[in-house]
Amino acid sequence: MIIGGGPAGYTAAVYAARANLSPVLYEGIQPGGQLTTTTDIENFPGFENGIGGQALMDAMRAQAVRLGTDIRRGIITGADLSSRPFSISIDNGDTVMADALIIATGATAKYLGLESEEKFKGMGVSACATCDGFFYRNRDVAVVGGGDTACEEAAYLAGICRKVYMIVRRDVLRASQAMQKKVQSTPNIEILWNCNTKEVLGDLSGVTGVRLVRKDGEEFDIAVDGFFLAIGHHPNSELFSKWLDTDENGYIITDGKTSRTNVDGVFAAGDVQDPLYRQAVTAAASGCRAALDAERFLNLS
Ligand code: NDP
Repeated sequence: MIIGGGPAGYTAAVYAARANLSPVLYEGIQPGGQLTTTTDIENFPGFENGIGGQALMDAMRAQAVRLGTDIRRGIITGADLSSRPFSISIDNGDTVMADALIIATGATAKYLGLESEEKFKGMGVSACATCDGFFYRNRDVAVVGGGDTACEEAAYLAGICRKVYMIVRRDVLRASQAMQKKVQSTPNIEILWNCNTKEVLGDLSGVTGVRLVRKDGEEFDIAVDGFFLAIGHHPNSELFSKWLDTDENGYIITDGKTSRTNVDGVFAAGDVQDPLYRQAVTAAASGCRAALDAERFLNLS
């Protein structure tokens, strides 16, 4: 059984299906994973002119299906990894028994945790510029964060919106030099350094602004219609944390270069075990490793 419909899960399925392991893959609420919320992908090998995120994932999924993967919709609600076969509960009441399990549940966007942010989710607060940027055409928006994601989202929004504020809590960006250069040379991006968000402001129509507090304590408001979070992700490992070793941030720990977890027969692939690279191509590669590890395990057990 494979849990997760992103590059890691689909690649694991392709390998497992070709090895006659009869893989069942659950793809959860966002089939295709995080890549379906992005636009063009230029760094996945094999596509000279890039490929759309959704198109890439559709192709991976179709490939897994063609080779014999049983892909199902459903949210995993529980897992008992105390003995084999492992028992996995699905939200429709089903229980699936699996001789080997590949966890490829990915990672989810982080939010600041403000009450006002929660209140305006879907009404101006978003963690995906490429999904929601369109709604803010020619309007002013803010992006929180100073990493590569924040810079990418700001650059993307700058092409749609009138003005983009980047709210950065320190006086430096964490992003790569190339992305820093990109945002700093984009005329309609303004970086607000040393600023934290105190409150998202709004009314019945949605977000109308953000109250910021600078490091020196000064508070001020900016008027925006959209508030985009880009402050990182957390791994979707909670369901398995009772059984599996994770690091301090919740990433599943795997053994050396393998995908093996501390439970025999359970393997982890993709962003749920990768705090470092988090790329589609590295996720796909780790899905391949997980399927090969699972195949070896099943052959020996
Ligand atoms: P990062 O962890 O790299 O950056 C998170 C950013 O959010 C940092 O600037 C951090 O500030 C800020 N932040 C975190 N928490 C808060 C908070 N509570 N309030 C305000 N700001 C906050 O995450 P990314 O998602 O940007 O990137 C993840 C990984 O993916 C990185 O390795 C990145 O390089 C990679 N990536 C690569 C891309 C590419 O190659 N095309 C595209 C996107 C991502 P601080 O710096 O102060 O900690």
